[in-house]
Amino acid sequence: MTQQAGQLTAEVISIGDELTSGARLDTNAQWLSRRLGELGIEVAYHSTVGDTLNDNIEVFRIAAGRVDIIVSTGGLGPTRDDLTREALSAVVQRPMHMDESAMQHIEQIFASRKREMPERNRVQAMFPAGSQQIFNPQGTAPGIDMVVPGTRVETSRIFALPGVPAEMKRMFDETVAQRIIESKGAATEIKHHVMKFFGTGESDMENRLGEMISRGREPRVGITVSTATISLRITAMGQSDAQCQEQIDQTRAEILERVPQFYFGEGDKFEQHDAINAELVSRGQTLMVVEYGRAAPLGNWFSKLGDSPAYQGGLSFANSNQLCRMFGGKDELESLKLLKRKCKLDWLLIIDSYPELDDDALLPQPASEIRLLVISPADKALVQTQTLGGHPDVLQPRIAKAGMAWLREMLAENTE
Ligand code: ATP
Ligand code: MG
Repeated sequence: MTQQAGQLTAEVISIGDELTSGARLDTNAQWLSRRLGELGIEVAYHSTVGDTLNDNIEVFRIAAGRVDIIVSTGGLGPTRDDLTREALSAVVQRPMHMDESAMQHIEQIFASRKREMPERNRVQAMFPAGSQQIFNPQGTAPGIDMVVPGTRVETSRIFALPGVPAEMKRMFDETVAQRIIESKGAATEIKHHVMKFFGTGESDMENRLGEMISRGREPRVGITVSTATISLRITAMGQSDAQCQEQIDQTRAEILERVPQFYFGEGDKFEQHDAINAELVSRGQTLMVVEYGRAAPLGNWFSKLGDSPAYQGGLSFANSNQLCRMFGGKDELESLKLLKRKCKLDWLLIIDSYPELDDDALLPQPASEIRLLVISPADKALVQTQTLGGHPDVLQPRIAKAGMAWLREMLAENTE
């Protein structure tokens, strides 16, 4: 053990010429490092290596000498440049043998795709002696789980996964995570829970949460941000599902105590438009969005709700004059009220307006005043003005999200 007792260390190895040549960005290492961190494993090294046998042997040998857990991705395909199996067999100096159950699974996958199995796919059922399989429900490449002697560490455990991100993620979550926590000792179950927030920056959120997001805490709380939406991911480990759930409930309550004002829902895929939709559906009310500035991110997001009874659609205009013209030259507020009446709507959300970005807009955009307008069921015009600027890739979504946050606030106040 290289660290204090109980603290396991890990190395993530990414294999492939497409990575070392710069043709492709290594996103597997980032994803795996987050997951390992959530399990309380300290990721000490990242290594990237091309598709060359000697380099692969070397990189695994070095890693086995310095960390407890190695997770590699790539090089498990059926072609000659897929060398992970051979490299691992060389590292432990043990021959490879055919695993019948893996072979059957590969044959089944080809049969279900109604394709004949090429002879070369047989190598994907070959495993270094003494290793275990990691089941791959989606693809033909099973993973390899094996223990190797270390130098600085007593033994090192290698989990070799395929490079295809969707396959490796599922295999990690369904099999590898479980085996890692079992090897750590007491815990046998693992459970995740995601909470979503909007309305403050990452560093403010970190300050407010304080030691709740520290590395050593159990259960662990991880923070990630995606265009101003913050996700807190709680990872609980314990003896049973109920024990994990209890830890999650407690941590969840503590988080809500500290940052209730920014919270909007639960679950990785849950977004503000889902929260708004759920609220409106429960009230039996309807909404339309009006976006000025030729962009329509709200329209796009709300369209993902499918045939929701609450969301009645969206309109996008160059500016408010276009809307007024449509209603025979009435002023904006009158036009909006008319729109509400004609379409039998309870709520309108208006964004005024997105800055127009052309393809050359690469630099952060200067801040400008954005008017967020909500028309309530009683035709009250509820306005908030925000000064927003920022990188062109995220500016429009940020404005749209600020609009949704304003609507949520108004929904909470107007329970009419
Ligand atoms: P399989 O066994 O399923 O054929 P493999 O283990 O041989 O896969 P590769 O052929 O190396 O894996 O990669 C498969 C795909 O996954 C490619 O599109 C590759 O670009 C992508 N990929 C591989 N490694 C990474 C990585 N570290 N980050 C992101 N994408 C990756
Ligand atoms: Mg490869």
